[in-house]
Amino acid sequence: MALYVYKFGGTSVGTVERIKAVADKVKKARDAGDQIVVVVSAMSGETNRLVALAKDMQTQPTEREMDVLLSTGEQVTIALLCMALHNVGCDASSYTGSQVKILTDSSHTKARIREIEDAKIRADLDAGKVVVVAGFQGVDEEGNITTLGRGGSDTTGVALAAALKADECHIYTDVDGVYTTDPRVVPKARRLDKITFEEMLEMASLGSKVLQIRSVEFAGKYNVALRVLSSFAEGNGTLITYEESEMERALISGIAFNRDEAKLTLAGVPDLPGVASKILGPIAAENIEVDMIVQNVGANGATDFTFTVNRNDYVRAKNVLEALRTELGAQIVSGDDSIVKVSIVGVGMRSHAGIASTMFKVLADEGINIQMISTSEIKISVVIAEKYLELAVRALHTAFGLDQA
Ligand code: ADP
Ligand code: ASP
Ligand code: MG
Repeated sequence: MALYVYKFGGTSVGTVERIKAVADKVKKARDAGDQIVVVVSAMSGETNRLVALAKDMQTQPTEREMDVLLSTGEQVTIALLCMALHNVGCDASSYTGSQVKILTDSSHTKARIREIEDAKIRADLDAGKVVVVAGFQGVDEEGNITTLGRGGSDTTGVALAAALKADECHIYTDVDGVYTTDPRVVPKARRLDKITFEEMLEMASLGSKVLQIRSVEFAGKYNVALRVLSSFAEGNGTLITYEESEMERALISGIAFNRDEAKLTLAGVPDLPGVASKILGPIAAENIEVDMIVQNVGANGATDFTFTVNRNDYVRAKNVLEALRTELGAQIVSGDDSIVKVSIVGVGMRSHAGIASTMFKVLADEGINIQMISTSEIKISVVIAEKYLELAVRALHTAFGLDQA
């Protein structure tokens, strides 16, 4: 008898019919003799609807109340799925995050899981029941409801699999695995049978939203066998693994991109020690995360300082820079919130030179200007204008030999 955690995303539970289909799939697995814990997201569109309602109520609602609101989406789905299971004669109980309980820290809207109590779940499984848990949520030491950040149900699934020492964690979604890039942008994208944790972590952190980054970190840390599959079609999906394939590795495994980016420049700042911290200190104090940073070589005692932030933080970051401008003796504050980051990822990059120059040539041949560059051992990222996103990703996909035959 194997123990599986199945996580179903928003689209997979988006309608009554789809919830019924999930119930059938779960019942089938249970009837075959396996123990099943199901984690579900809110029905598709529900979390966005709740976010919009909150914005209509107050410009900046407290994060505590946001969590109380957003956690309701998943609560609806667990109850409906249990009803669907009961309806087909499958015994099941639902639990919210705080009922389980999934103990988190108190960082509302981006809480981290600290501990999971598994007693209730184990007792139910031993009694032959299916256990249905609300994704994306937990509870802190004081009993406040917390949420785990957008896409956080993936992390609930993996964390439960780790806590229960499940045989596998299946992430069921609306694509049949992890692709070389988002198949909605590049129709020629190829599904990967396997991808290493290291590469999946880079892809997720660089914008591939198929898995929440924390879920991949968790799976890597606790050695959870993690698989991404389609809710709608049969197949083995993609296994996230430590092993590299025996076949000769491609140089590049995938291309990730992130549209949620904006860049800001403070031009003509005095080129003196401490300037970077004087700029980024106040940005950090506003709780704004900075991604890429570029400081130009100084000329005539002055330099330009450019960095990127999440697009949602663009206006706030710009206000911080405006306030700093006179204080630092800088000349101009400028910015652009229609930029994107495109990254190529692959462990094969370690042992091969010339990948960056190939990437830059492909972009140049398409007439795409590169605004910023950053590299690490297994990735190269560039910032370009948003209007070139599709063109860049498709051209790179072809140039690095990733297109489907
Ligand atoms: P769910 O609601 O099931 O959590 P998500 O929308 O969070 O689903 O994640 C699935 C989506 O991720 C796909 O529909 C696809 O557009 C997108 N995606 C981005 N990059 C990739 C990739 N490399 N491989 C597969 N899907 C990707
Ligand atoms: N419902 C949440 C979201 O839309 C969590 C999830 O689906 O994973 O982000
Ligand atoms: Mg998701």
